[in-house]
Amino acid sequence: MARGLVGSEILRIAADIRALRREGRAICDLTVGDFDPRQFPIPDRLRSGVVSALERGETNYPPSNGVLELRESVRGFYARELGLDYPPECVLIAGGARPLLYGTFRALVDPSERVVYPVPSWNNNHYAHLVGAEGIALPCDAASGFLPRAEDLARALEGARLVCLNSPLNPSGTSFEPGVLRGICEALVAENRARERRGERPAYLLYDQVYWMLQASGHSHVTPPGLVPETARWTILVDGISKAFAATGVRVGWALGPADLIERMSAVLGHVGAWAPRAEQVATAELLDDAEAVREHLASFQEAILARLRRLHRGFTDLRAEGFAVDALEPAGTIYLAARIHPFGRRTAQGSVLATSEDVRRWLLGEAALAIVPFQAFGVDRDEGWFRLSVGAVSEREIEEALPRLGSALRSLRS
Ligand code: PMP
Repeated sequence: MARGLVGSEILRIAADIRALRREGRAICDLTVGDFDPRQFPIPDRLRSGVVSALERGETNYPPSNGVLELRESVRGFYARELGLDYPPECVLIAGGARPLLYGTFRALVDPSERVVYPVPSWNNNHYAHLVGAEGIALPCDAASGFLPRAEDLARALEGARLVCLNSPLNPSGTSFEPGVLRGICEALVAENRARERRGERPAYLLYDQVYWMLQASGHSHVTPPGLVPETARWTILVDGISKAFAATGVRVGWALGPADLIERMSAVLGHVGAWAPRAEQVATAELLDDAEAVREHLASFQEAILARLRRLHRGFTDLRAEGFAVDALEPAGTIYLAARIHPFGRRTAQGSVLATSEDVRRWLLGEAALAIVPFQAFGVDRDEGWFRLSVGAVSEREIEEALPRLGSALRSLRS
């Protein structure tokens, strides 16, 4: 299993970027799903909360399912912001969202059971490999915002033990329309009722919503239990502070789901020791309880992120109007823009022909000092030239300066 694990594509690209930077080149790095703390610091309330919790001596083992204060805060936060009502025994805390994703797979899926996930999506293929599952990738296209259609997902449900959805979506920033997610939920209910009658184990739905607080206005977030309450029996919501509070290195995440499953996930993760540090848990509880601090942080944070996404989008729209083979989806939130760069068949100044997204990626890194991630890093086979552009670690100025370099690179291509 360990030999077969594939390393992160994005980390491999990061190594290329580091090599160029060592040569003294300034790269506009749109690859990492992370934040530059100089541009996007964590909320003051969180920073001071961690420091004072440490000073108070919050330094010993936390309970393996998370400190009660934080489980209560998550419960209150979801009731207040999402209208969902979960008792504290249905809430599990861990060191970020990743252990909760892994814990869900580990607790539910036995070797060779079927896990369905749309592509592009983030890391489901790796989690499926870790537990020896049969991964079923469901290809999605730009026309549906790279999200699955209800009828396609309903067909894939048969025989599945776990279905993994992510909205808003890494890598495209797009999110489910309520009607589509409702259709998926109704299919899940129908499937599980039929299985119940046959005495078979149900299918579960892992709903990763780590970007839900980072949606542009006009895009409201929907959840399976919010749309079809019966799905709560089989749904695990995964979330955390990494993205919404630019706190990727602070490591606090939470999952909400049926109490029996949460208890098993807690048992699995307890042995792994994947707890969030105690002081960070206490500080996160204080932050989530402070509706005003959360609102204030999100308002300025989103504005800064969206300004970058919109600037990039405008750049692509202008280049497209000039006749270049580029495109981009409307920014919808998260920290990502889905952009298409497909000058396939054209020849670079050095004489090589651009045939794949990987060719385009390397060429843009060298020619335009612009680093981006092909959708192939998100499990996509078909190569249409789509890329993820992430803006958490760049300034608006860096984007402003990179766009003309992209234009010049495109202009330098020959047929
Ligand atoms: N889910 C999605 C969709 C993500 O993009 C990421 C981070 N790239 C995670 C989960 C993991 O979050 P964390 O850093 O809290 O483990």
